[in-house]
Amino acid sequence: MNKTFNDLNLNLNIIEGLKKQGITDPTLIQAESIIPALENKDIIGEAFTGSGKTLAYLLPIFHKIDTSKREMQAIVLAPTHELALQIEAQIKLLANNSSVPVTSLCIIGDVNINNQIKKLKEVKPHIIVGSTGRILDLIRKKKVTAHTIKTIVIDEADNLLDPKRAAITKDIIKTTMRDRQLMVFSASIKLETLETAKELMKDPVIIKSEDKPAMNPNIEHMLFVCDRRDKFETLRKILVAVKPEKAIIFVNDHEDIELTTVKLNYHSKDCFAMTGKISKEDRKLAIESFRNGKIKILVSSDVTARGLDVEGVTHIFHLDLPLKINEYLHRAGRTARGNAHGTSICIATVKQLNIIKKYEKDFNIKFHEKKVFGGAIEDSNYHSEQKQEKAKSKSYNNKFDKSKFHN
Ligand code: AMP
Repeated sequence: MNKTFNDLNLNLNIIEGLKKQGITDPTLIQAESIIPALENKDIIGEAFTGSGKTLAYLLPIFHKIDTSKREMQAIVLAPTHELALQIEAQIKLLANNSSVPVTSLCIIGDVNINNQIKKLKEVKPHIIVGSTGRILDLIRKKKVTAHTIKTIVIDEADNLLDPKRAAITKDIIKTTMRDRQLMVFSASIKLETLETAKELMKDPVIIKSEDKPAMNPNIEHMLFVCDRRDKFETLRKILVAVKPEKAIIFVNDHEDIELTTVKLNYHSKDCFAMTGKISKEDRKLAIESFRNGKIKILVSSDVTARGLDVEGVTHIFHLDLPLKINEYLHRAGRTARGNAHGTSICIATVKQLNIIKKYEKDFNIKFHEKKVFGGAIEDSNYHSEQKQEKAKSKSYNNKFDKSKFHN
């Protein structure tokens, strides 16, 4: 039988608060991780994108925080500023709805550090959410009291424990007490991340559904094959055909992001270019406008869209395929949040079909090959036809060669 939030031993006011948010039953990752988290166990949790992993770690933190103390008790580390802001928004929402007086502060880089120091002093937040560099800086300046921290969460762990970034994350962990709890979550936990996490933990509970990273089953994967120079035109035609309510178009290069946006806006699509060049404030405003529907399409790189939780994103487009295989999982995961369904569309060249095969194999998914015909989306068997053609010409060549041989 499915577990309820009551079965998970959470405080009643938290359960009531969740109800106000329309959340009545735990998701799988919540059902499996909340009890060990309440028992202060270290946890490594892998759950597909949009499956409620934020609340999987926030609910036990809420339950355990001693609100009678004005003391920093938990740190949540996130790889991007947008994700940190989103997590903090979830904390504020739940604190409000459950009337549990948990306080929080978002600490990210590129923001005036003196103002952050002032706020830390004023609020003495129970939970600090933010990026690793600035948090470590503030711990070293003794503005974040590492010795009072009971729980550290590493969200998007495959990113924060990546060999390039792991050192700074480890430095933060080392400043805290030995008996603090460590929880590590991600949509995809690589073997190497698992090993790094284990080194930092005591006898962790590992919640990992299968050997393969779990792709959200509510996502349909489509493939459009075309020449490289026809990619934009293919995208434009698909957009006309599917009329997405909200979409994110992934493009790898910053200049191409701008160019794609300009061209789409010329075709009167409400697009915004999320490049690393725009200011933090503008990025925040753009995400807000995307959330409330004023902007319908974001054209973005992987960096600015990782972890983004925006309700109602119906389509993800990969005008460029991601540079790393695993990134496909994170990109596609920007759609089908909660119980919703969504579509992830790759626009690929024939040469890139081997990468599509790899996604199918690694994530245990199937791409449906499509084409745009007469303004509508239709099934296509472009590359299976190609394969047949190749097979035919091969057997013809063989016969031809054989006949020559016999003569
Ligand atoms: P996350 O995977 O944490 O980014 O969550 C994805 C979305 O699912 C968020 O918008 C959450 O508010 C929502 N969510 C989290 N837990 C539940 C639940 N138990 N039932 C329904 N929706 C949920």
